[in-house]
Amino acid sequence: MTQPILTARLAGKHCLSASTQCFHLEFVADGVTDLAFTPGQFISVLHEDATGKEEMRAYSLASAPAANRFALCLNRVKGGYFSNLICDLAIGDAIQFQGPLGYFTLREPITDSILIATGTGVAPMRGFLQWLFPQQGPNRSQGRHIWLVYGTRHAADIYYREEFEALAALHPNFHYLPTLSRPLDSWSGLRGYVQEHVARIIEERAASLGQPLPAPPPDPSIPASELHFDIYAYICGLSPMITAARERLKAFGWHRRQIITERYD
Ligand SMILES: Cc1cc2nc3c(=O)[nH]c(=O)nc-3n(C[C@H](O)[C@H](O)[C@H](O)COP(=O)(O)OP(=O)(O)OC[C@H]3O[C@@H](n4cnc5c(N)ncnc54)[C@H](O)[C@@H]3O)c2cc1C
Repeated sequence: MTQPILTARLAGKHCLSASTQCFHLEFVADGVTDLAFTPGQFISVLHEDATGKEEMRAYSLASAPAANRFALCLNRVKGGYFSNLICDLAIGDAIQFQGPLGYFTLREPITDSILIATGTGVAPMRGFLQWLFPQQGPNRSQGRHIWLVYGTRHAADIYYREEFEALAALHPNFHYLPTLSRPLDSWSGLRGYVQEHVARIIEERAASLGQPLPAPPPDPSIPASELHFDIYAYICGLSPMITAARERLKAFGWHRRQIITERYD
């Protein structure tokens, strides 16, 4: 069934990083009181180009459901059509979209989870975290350990850093691990690529729980669709990082169903 086309207006906008030209954009949907979606899903934004051709791009929802409001996080892609169009929107400008769409959503019941992102791949992770640790209402993390391993080149490009640091200070079971691939000497945090830090999380967790590594394969008599695991990884960003992180997890014996991915390219 074709989804209806909805309209939303830009209600707020701020630059998350001048060097990467990344923006946080807040929208209000017209004519709906409740835009129901599952955190991690995306919308498909539509626009007719100068020749009358309908263009369409996917953008992850960078917020948890909140009545008719939602957020996007996107960066200008050099020479890109749609990203520049959206980053140039002014307050009050409208977009047309379909959705919510997609299956990049938290598996339930909530388990220990490693959220792995680079660049604007942090968008659905922000949605997950707002839902797991809402400012108002019950904490949905159920005491499970949630790690956000976020990779970027420079400290100035760590999107939503203050927000995630504040969340980690409030919730001992949320572990925020930004890592830089090209840090200045003055950077005292983690260095290198996300997959290296994911490996350390898995090794330390397995040691603390007395679990073997690599993990033994699941019982072959259980159909893959019925398998449940005590930890999942959610990976979002561009293909090379997703492939590298997935390979690292597989080397620890992780099953393909434990690794949930969203590719932007
Ligand atoms: C499910 C899904 C969710 C997405 N969510 C987001 C999101 O939340 N935020 C976001 O910024 N983008 C997101 N994207 C990417 C987005 O749909 C567009 O591809 C991107 O904005 C480039 O569109 P464009 O028209 O400007 O460039 P185009 O002219 O279509 O393409 C330019 C090139 O840029 C590459 N590219 C795509 N995304 C990026 C990126 N983020 N950084 C660098 N290069 C890129 C493409 O592979 C392509 O080769 C998502 C993609 C998918 C499939």
